[in-house]
Amino acid sequence: MADCIFCKIAAKEIPSSLVYEDEQVVAFKDLEPQAPVHVLVIPKKHVESVLALAEEDKGLVSHILVDVIPKLAKELGVAERGFRVVANTGEEGGQSVKHLHFHLLGGRSMQWPPG
Ligand code: 5GP
Ligand code: ZN
Repeated sequence: MADCIFCKIAAKEIPSSLVYEDEQVVAFKDLEPQAPVHVLVIPKKHVESVLALAEEDKGLVSHILVDVIPKLAKELGVAERGFRVVANTGEEGGQSVKHLHFHLLGGRSMQWPPG
């Protein structure tokens, strides 16, 4: 999608610190990390948010949550101690980039409730 920063990162038109890529997904380090491990996992195709997911995206979401995030958590060394997966959605959810992304945060103790 034109003018979508994460579409541009997925297409490598904008540089990022990629940590994972396959046919459907890329994962890269967040520009402003909020934890020692802070990676964003995104679909290559443009989907605005969790709310915009369609029936046809069920396989994609399963792939991200079942395959990619656990694998990255293990590789990045946070699986054993624990980590957080966050998909900020919409204005009050704190979503600033309107391309679906899952934050994978770890390497420190997380607080609850979130701010
Ligand atoms: P949101 O606030 O939408 O849940 O998360 C967007 C995240 O994307 C933020 O944590 C922000 O730091 C990150 N971000 C925004 N622009 C860029 C960018 O150009 N490159 C990278 N690597 N991260 C970005
Ligand atoms: Zn996009």
